[in-house]
Amino acid sequence: MHVYVHIPFCESICAYCDFYRYKTNASIQKQWFTRILEEIDALSFSSIDTLYFGGGTPSSLANDMLVRIAEKFIPYLAQSYEWTIECNPETLTQEKIRLYANLGINRISLGVQSFQLDILHALGRKHTLEDIFRCIQQCRDNGIHNISIDLMYGLPHQTLKDLQKDIDIFLKLDLPHLSIYSLQIEPNSIFGKQGVQPCDPDLEADMYERIRQDLTQTGYEQYEISSYCKEGMYSRHNLCYWDDSDFLGIGCGASGRIHGKRYDQNQSLQAYIQNGSIREYVESNPPFEAIMMSLRTAFGLDIQTWNQKYQRDFEKEYQRVLKKYAKQLKIRNGRCVCTPSGLEILNTILVEFLEDS
Ligand code: SF4
Repeated sequence: MHVYVHIPFCESICAYCDFYRYKTNASIQKQWFTRILEEIDALSFSSIDTLYFGGGTPSSLANDMLVRIAEKFIPYLAQSYEWTIECNPETLTQEKIRLYANLGINRISLGVQSFQLDILHALGRKHTLEDIFRCIQQCRDNGIHNISIDLMYGLPHQTLKDLQKDIDIFLKLDLPHLSIYSLQIEPNSIFGKQGVQPCDPDLEADMYERIRQDLTQTGYEQYEISSYCKEGMYSRHNLCYWDDSDFLGIGCGASGRIHGKRYDQNQSLQAYIQNGSIREYVESNPPFEAIMMSLRTAFGLDIQTWNQKYQRDFEKEYQRVLKKYAKQLKIRNGRCVCTPSGLEILNTILVEFLEDS
């Protein structure tokens, strides 16, 4: 079983953010807390392989609330579980790291975004470089070595040289995992409202390629379009999104998938406090989604499993697309995999898969 818990509170709102999040407010948080405990209590769990506390900023939640939520899941953790918590460097204190380690949390995902102060300020991030390095050291000191950081590229005024500095610092830190995303200007974000222009597509493509080359040449595996890791240190939780598995999404702002059916918990925080959890099932196309998600990864699509699960014939049905993108899509050992050049135009390829679905 894979479980995602959404904690939708942040101390401040970043300029690029269009996630489901609210600025921390003690009285609203208290009411949310009652509701999320009710939601968890109404569910039944089997053995939990991966548990993910995401947000928002889970590390901004008061310790006593986090402990009460965590305790609901601890009895169900599988023997070799992965339990991740997303943290922001400025809210992740030594005390919190100790607490998380004592609870059994064994993976930290740290929202770094950049190692350059001027860029962090422009993004509306509140942490300093000292915060980042302190958090990483304190996680290691407390036995949490499975650390991932998030970085961004394609940022306003960011040059290839700026990006190079970020990559170099990341490599020096010798961390097992990196998630790296290009900035998307979302209309409802502060950047969107300010009319900030997206990065030049050619520069963005050069940045993507620079990241890919530098990381793969220094021993990292690009196992997903935006994810790199050392020696099998994959995000096991994220793999469940890409390998066509079900996962439980808990809390307002969470999404989930049960028996192949996707749902969102999209109601506002106020509505969640009033109504409790409401799952809205969304129209989906599971066979296509399985292709879409698996092609993001280095493992690709297991053709036989897909054929059996959906009672279809992948190679026959998508003969046209496979032929048209023969250089970008390879079939190896029974799996359809995107080459590096395929990953660069994955969205275009997926549109064609969808047309033939
Ligand atoms: S980017 Fe993360 S920390 Fe920043 S406002 Fe959004 S959810 Fe909160």
